[in-house]
Amino acid sequence: MKKQVVLLGLLVLLIASCTKPERKHYTVIVSLDGFRWDYPTFYDTPNLDKMAERGVSATMLPSFPASTFPNHYTLATGLVPDHNGIINNSFWNPKTQKRYTMSDSTTRYNPAYYLGEPIWITARKQGRKAGVLYWVGSDIAIKDTYPTYYKVWDDVPRLTFAQRIDTAMAWLNRAEAERPDLIMLYIEEPDMAGHNFGPKSEETGRVVHRVDSLMGVLSAQIAALPYADRVNLIVTSDHGMTDISPERFVDATLYINPDWCELVDGTTPTSIFTKEGYRDSVYNALKDVEHIHVWKKEDIPDELNYGTSDRIGDIVVAPELGWQFAYKAKTSKGAHGYFPQSPDMQVMFRAYGPDFKQGYTSSNSFVNVDIYPLLAHLLGVQPEKTDGEYERIKGILAE
Ligand code: AMP
Ligand code: ZN
Ligand code: ZN
Repeated sequence: MKKQVVLLGLLVLLIASCTKPERKHYTVIVSLDGFRWDYPTFYDTPNLDKMAERGVSATMLPSFPASTFPNHYTLATGLVPDHNGIINNSFWNPKTQKRYTMSDSTTRYNPAYYLGEPIWITARKQGRKAGVLYWVGSDIAIKDTYPTYYKVWDDVPRLTFAQRIDTAMAWLNRAEAERPDLIMLYIEEPDMAGHNFGPKSEETGRVVHRVDSLMGVLSAQIAALPYADRVNLIVTSDHGMTDISPERFVDATLYINPDWCELVDGTTPTSIFTKEGYRDSVYNALKDVEHIHVWKKEDIPDELNYGTSDRIGDIVVAPELGWQFAYKAKTSKGAHGYFPQSPDMQVMFRAYGPDFKQGYTSSNSFVNVDIYPLLAHLLGVQPEKTDGEYERIKGILAE
């Protein structure tokens, strides 16, 4: 009888240990637009430095072109812009004979432009919740699905940066059954400062310091949660920033004959849809021009992963780092969109929390398509097949 009681006790213990609810982790990812990888080396960023000490510090390569819409949507989907449909901030769609522009709401809100599956949809399909604030694609009915919680970019007034932190914290403070497993937060600085004043300027330094403080507030508020030890925080970006000047300008009007082209769209890079029979003429007129790269679509170097989408013209022109190829020179001091391999285009990556290594500086820079499989892993969901590879990024995770 005594033996039976002991056995029964053991069985109860075994069942209890198997059914004990897993202490699930939450992940918050913040994108600070245009945060170049090396800003913390020459600006005051005490909070991001602390994050590096507590967790992982790395440099990440954007995808080509190093611009906002293509790369935020790459971070969300794990697909390079050539495969995710958002091949530039603006582009011509020959199928619909319409031009997509990020600043035009009628095109931006059309889900047909957005290919692939953002992580918030993968998460929702597999029973997870996602709160997404202003991340490219999050207020658009992609696959007829929105994140569990989100805000519409066009709704006014747009939330201030501080209100965005408050919103993320309000989501994290919801009852467990309502709480998002993943939070994605977008902040449009220091990109604007970088454009207006250049990446190396007092003004940009001040804005970098301001967003660093904002990350300090977020980090402190997470630390005050009763389940703080179950929250991962990732802070990263979409692309870097480099100096430009109106003097480093190649005037497109001197080389592009409008009679040879159906359409010329976008900058850094420019897509040209040539008229039948004029492709070689357009190519030959550009191929020896200094400070630009010009390719026939099929000859774009493999490392750029660009050229299969039908939204890319049959000739592509990309300026050298810091140069402009356009009809009119920008007068701003900073720009991006250049090759991901240029250090100035690369971005800062910081992450800490229960799933990350501590005090770890990654000697390898990784590519931003790997963020989607990383988030899928942290959420415990099966990822879609993408251009990203979990194996390439898993070295930053604790064993
Ligand atoms: P750019 O520097 O031209 O590549 O784009 C940066 C700008 O993109 C930001 O300053 C915002 O105005 C805009 N932007 C970023 N995210 C969104 C979004 N989710 N919806 C609409 N516009 C956005
Ligand atoms: Zn950007
Ligand atoms: Zn920008």
